[in-house]
Amino acid sequence: MTTDLPSFGQRFRSLPETFWRRVRPTPLRAPYWVTQNTALAAELGISAEVLDANLPLFAGSVLPPGVDSLAALYAGHQFGVYVPQLGDGRALLLGDLPSGGERMELQLKGAGQTPFSRMGDGRAVLRSSVREYLCSEAMHGLGIPTTRALCLAGSDETVWRETAETTAVVTRVAPSFIRFGSFEVFYHRGQHEALRQLADHVLQHHYPDCLSADQPYLALLAEVSRRTATLVAAWQAVGFCHGVMNSDNMSILGLTLDYGPFGFLDGFDVGHICNHSDTSGRYAYNQQPRVAHWNLSCLASALLPFVEEAELLAVLDRFPEWFGHAWLGAFRAKLGLSAAHEDDESLLQALLLLLHAQSVDFTVFFRRLSRLPLQGEMDELAGLFAEPDAWLAWRTRYRARLAAEGSLDPVRHHAMLAVNPKYILRNYLAEQAIARARDAHDFGEIERLRRCLARPFDEQPEFEDYAALPPAWAGEICLSCSS
Ligand code: AMP
Ligand code: MG
Ligand code: MG
Repeated sequence: MTTDLPSFGQRFRSLPETFWRRVRPTPLRAPYWVTQNTALAAELGISAEVLDANLPLFAGSVLPPGVDSLAALYAGHQFGVYVPQLGDGRALLLGDLPSGGERMELQLKGAGQTPFSRMGDGRAVLRSSVREYLCSEAMHGLGIPTTRALCLAGSDETVWRETAETTAVVTRVAPSFIRFGSFEVFYHRGQHEALRQLADHVLQHHYPDCLSADQPYLALLAEVSRRTATLVAAWQAVGFCHGVMNSDNMSILGLTLDYGPFGFLDGFDVGHICNHSDTSGRYAYNQQPRVAHWNLSCLASALLPFVEEAELLAVLDRFPEWFGHAWLGAFRAKLGLSAAHEDDESLLQALLLLLHAQSVDFTVFFRRLSRLPLQGEMDELAGLFAEPDAWLAWRTRYRARLAAEGSLDPVRHHAMLAVNPKYILRNYLAEQAIARARDAHDFGEIERLRRCLARPFDEQPEFEDYAALPPAWAGEICLSCSS
């Protein structure tokens, strides 16, 4: 029995069976709670007590009354190669709950095999589930669109990755999990009627404003492109590397989706590759905007049955402008520039070159920059540079730029501290929480980190240790696609 949960809607399930398969979860063996996000539960109308009482549901042992869980079909381009069938190989959709005027869908990830599991076991390991849980909530705290995470159920049942690892189910939450690849599958199969149903579903429930456009499907592409441009600009501005930007991991809503071998930059490195399986650097930090654009072209192709090619291409051609605008806007804010000046991009590029050349910690740098006064030799930043002269030269140029717009220290500091986070989910922090969970069943660190990362811009003296420069061993952490 499930206890006192609000009743689930079945919005996605209202699509015909072409889009999904009915699949019951495979229960985790002897499940226990790893962690519960009571703040998100409250947004979904679920009290802490009710969430806690429903471990059997969130471990895949029972379904709420009237719920038929399902796995959705999709395809996608993985590392540039089209794979005709992917789909939810280990995620099951329960349905949707009302939340602040919209509806949020809940998915159990790691709840067993589905017809789309291919060679996979349908499970997710504790390690990757903790990373997904923490990073979803960290991104939300940063104000970056993302799927969310409600809770984690664990089990001592093991599965084999590079070694034996224990398993978990993470409950993900988002208005929709539809991806670019959800469209691609029906386009490549020539199922144009299904494709149209999917596009209409997305328009009706998620982009109602596009319905009044002359060409709703074209307007949809434009809106998804704008959102994706803004999303990737936001990633660049916090040093987030997604790691596996395959088109099946690109949300139709412009959300950060699929937390696998992601990473935040420590020392700034424009070519940083966070995923060891990505040998060519296709998804390196500085490739993310270009790959997002490429993925949008996959989505645009899938709309060819409904829109003239030239019109789709005209929308795609605007991506660099949309991205550039969002990117420059985000970095101007990081520098505390309130006006736009034609020299800003050059000022910024000079800084990024400098940070790259000296491997300066991206997060610590911008946080300290947020308190740099216009005048004076006191400087908390010089110590971050192996060769501070280059920094001091840039600082002179920056201060002149600030003075030219009449920037006031307290006003600028306040604005910059609200966009330059003090706390990010560094890989080593996640690793520490995972090690305690795995080795000692001690889950307190996961909750501590989540609470801190929910407010990344606030000074939180009790979490000062999380804001430190990473230890030397952080550079050795190796992340692959295995999860
Ligand atoms: P990803 O690389 O996480 O985007 O996953 C690519 C595809 O592999 C998706 O269809 C996933 O559902 C599927 N997949 C990943 N891991 C597993 C697993 N352990 N069992 C079944 N399917 C999986
Ligand atoms: Mg995926
Ligand atoms: Mg994944």
